[in-house]
Amino acid sequence: MIGLDAPADVQTCSRAGCRAHATHRIDWRNPRIHAEDRRKTWLACDEHVGFLRDFLAARDFPLEVSPLEDAPPPEDAPQPDDDTTAEAR
Ligand SMILES: [Zn+2]
Repeated sequence: MIGLDAPADVQTCSRAGCRAHATHRIDWRNPRIHAEDRRKTWLACDEHVGFLRDFLAARDFPLEVSPLEDAPPPEDAPQPDDDTTAEAR
């Protein structure tokens, strides 16, 4: 039994209606409702990263844009550091 409704490893843009693969992440905070250490994360494709950043910047929310690098590699990619599954062979 698999209890997940959607694949968890597909990271798509947070812009409403956009299904493009996300290439950036935007970590932001609303100082009026979020505590100091609270962060929200939006994902954005190349096309919408500017839109989403401007949307937050226009509200004076602190934000940080970074490249999205933690996407899982393709299944057939070599994984030199992966020795945790070696025993399964
Ligand atoms: Zn998008």
